[in-house]
Amino acid sequence: IPVDPFDIVIFGGTGDLSRRKLLPALYHRWLDGQIPASSCVVGTARSEMTSEEYRAMAKEACKTASGDSWDANAWGKFEKLIHYVSIDATAEDADWKTLKSHLTEDPARPCVFYLATSPRLYVDICEALGTVGLSSGNTRVVLEKPIGTDLESARAINDGVGAVFAERQVFRIDHYLGKETVQNLMVLRFGNMLFEPLWSRNYIDHVQITVAENLGLEGRADYYDKSGALRDMVQNHLLQLLCLTAMEAPNHLDDDDVRTEKIKVLNALVPITGDAAKRQTVRGQYKAGVQGDKPVKGYLDELSSDEESSTETFVAIKAQIDNWRWAGVPFYLRTGKRMAHRHSDIVINFKHVPHSLFGEGNDIANRLVIRLQPDEGVRLFVQIKEPGPGGLRVKSLPLNLSYAESFTVRYPDAYERLLMDVVRGNLSLFMRKDEVEAAWRWVDGLIEAWEASGEKPEAYAAGTDGPLAAAMMMDRDGRKWWEGS
Ligand code: NAP
Repeated sequence: IPVDPFDIVIFGGTGDLSRRKLLPALYHRWLDGQIPASSCVVGTARSEMTSEEYRAMAKEACKTASGDSWDANAWGKFEKLIHYVSIDATAEDADWKTLKSHLTEDPARPCVFYLATSPRLYVDICEALGTVGLSSGNTRVVLEKPIGTDLESARAINDGVGAVFAERQVFRIDHYLGKETVQNLMVLRFGNMLFEPLWSRNYIDHVQITVAENLGLEGRADYYDKSGALRDMVQNHLLQLLCLTAMEAPNHLDDDDVRTEKIKVLNALVPITGDAAKRQTVRGQYKAGVQGDKPVKGYLDELSSDEESSTETFVAIKAQIDNWRWAGVPFYLRTGKRMAHRHSDIVINFKHVPHSLFGEGNDIANRLVIRLQPDEGVRLFVQIKEPGPGGLRVKSLPLNLSYAESFTVRYPDAYERLLMDVVRGNLSLFMRKDEVEAAWRWVDGLIEAWEASGEKPEAYAAGTDGPLAAAMMMDRDGRKWWEGS
């Protein structure tokens, strides 16, 4: 369904995110006929270049991202929407006039300011937009992660942005929420009678959420070394997945209903402080190893300086949600770089049957695996009888719902969905101020405990499933990580 004509200004329009994700997302929405021809896309950054040069850069970016779906004809029409204005967002004499001249003066028309710059610039850019009269009407501002590096800095950004834009105008993006399988989690839970009655401490033994990457730093060493896996992945993506898995059914899919349910989960997370951090968390850092069949460098060798670093590239956490539904059910969170396989899964492990009829080794619990990437899909492992006359042997096999096999349509990137939601003004897949702050509050407590202990992350070889301590943490609880298959 086409959206209404809109204007979008991308700050950081020459950056990596714009080239790899934002411009290709807009191009694909154009290909699908969702963007009206009277819309306008303005890229901006400090670099001096003409609109012509910017279109050439955008074309290369979209071509690279599109692969086989590249359509030169469609691009020829789409590029007419694109303009470039050079602005140093922090400079007193920035050229806001030229930027304004590209935008339609219609207070009802959606106008999106996408801040794909360093978060250090978010408040400056918003203040400038306010001063030049670009914050009223139907304007929205999109903030990329990370929103701060701790609760205090997140609050400073939220307050600075909030002094110019009302909360309903602020779209804090977490692209995980735009993934088809993540949205499918809500449909699976609340669109089927089958799962929800079982979705609690009564029938679920534990939940695992894994986001395993096989990549290393990919040129982001400066950013990553100051951040680490907890801030970079857990504070946002993993906690959002946890919220969607654990939240109560919202009354409606309206913005605030979903977000209100998510924040209740964040507020119920038991803080991990002091000695609990030793028992319930594992930090790791990869050393040199073999990925696939190629030798790869260790984390410290990927850094530009020779300095030691205690930044974690792996973290595993046993989290507890202190509420009626989840009391006593551990949520194990795990993310890492340079792991054996790239896979992101939410795994719901059900309890064993109360009385086993089939003898030793034949009591395997049900498991629901929601795979976010790769090979998106849902598998429900059930017990069936192994064929053959030699006695009753039970086997665990999946009822398999593969997205690729069930739907032959192209798989839209998360940014495509989210950008169109911003244009429509639909906030439900974006984080509210209090959600971001609640997530930081929990993460800050953990960081404090780590700092107080002074312990360094445990080394793990690149191309493996992470440090041994992560497997031991599960072993102590009589459980195992799901490594995907
Ligand atoms: P990047 O490649 O370093 O791009 C930064 C952009 O900001 C460039 O276009 C740069 O262009 C512009 N810029 C810098 N200073 C400016 C100023 N004073 N005024 C106006 N523009 C300025 O960064 P990125 O990787 O695209 O990331 C952008 C944001 O998205 C960051 O917050 C990042 O954390 C977030 N993010 C990125 C990714 C990703 O995959 N890249 C994923 C998730 C989140 P000039 O130098 O020409 O000004």
